[in-house]
Amino acid sequence: MPELPEVETVRRGLTPALLGRKILRVEQNRPNLRFPFPDDFSARLSAARVEQLDRRAKYLLLRLSSGETLLSHLGMSGRFTIETTRGAGPLPEDMVHAAPANPKHDHVVFNLEDGVIIRYNDPRRFGFMELYPTDAESQVSYLTGLGPEPNSNGFSGVTLGEALRDKRSPIKSALLDQRVVAGLGNIYVCEALHRSGISPRRESRTIPGKRAERLAVAVRDVINEAIEAGGSSLKDFASTDGGLGYFQHRFRAYGRENESCLTPRCDGRVQRIVQSGRSTFYCATCQR
Ligand SMILES: [Zn+2]
Repeated sequence: MPELPEVETVRRGLTPALLGRKILRVEQNRPNLRFPFPDDFSARLSAARVEQLDRRAKYLLLRLSSGETLLSHLGMSGRFTIETTRGAGPLPEDMVHAAPANPKHDHVVFNLEDGVIIRYNDPRRFGFMELYPTDAESQVSYLTGLGPEPNSNGFSGVTLGEALRDKRSPIKSALLDQRVVAGLGNIYVCEALHRSGISPRRESRTIPGKRAERLAVAVRDVINEAIEAGGSSLKDFASTDGGLGYFQHRFRAYGRENESCLTPRCDGRVQRIVQSGRSTFYCATCQR
């Protein structure tokens, strides 16, 4: 399931193909994904130029010359692939793929000028797309109330400490709360807690300022490292599945049940517990 770093990798991968290009025609192959497509979806996109590609939490935001923004969420299995038929200019060759994995799950096909074709493929259809006027973004329900981006200046030990101060919930749940910090999912929360030596069970309000500082640094670092790994793995896509944004990081806690803890000088083992219905991986020896 794509988390923030994967979505950021997709954004960076799509940028050279989309930025500045006009959308000529959009094929919409079904009425809905997780939600129905917006009314007149294809007509509203046609003839619009892509002026900017942004990301907020796990949402891709395509700023269009029509004054609208196309918001896209990848859900569990959504991915974009890029094809070029002729003269597309400076696309990285590694990201140009002859054919997607299974065309029957190509739900939206964007035909752009210069022969660039972008396919949205999503076997499980938990993804969705929305269109809204860019100047009304402050009223878009998906985006309102989101906390700061973990790798932005708005996120720090101070802001995190304030957000945790009155919370009785376990820190694992607090970090998954999108109002505290935007875009963190299960995997990177486990990794950040492991790295900062904080138990996922710890009551949020008992984390003092110094440890909140350390935790904020760990959150930022795991996200930035994953984004960097994604950037370098873009080169491998052609030889793997041809999609953008799916790469396996090596995690230090996540998915390592019963394996030795990788914290220096710790002789503990990683264990798996279930919190709010989701797996948490942590080491009870060095995470307190
Ligand atoms: Zn440990």
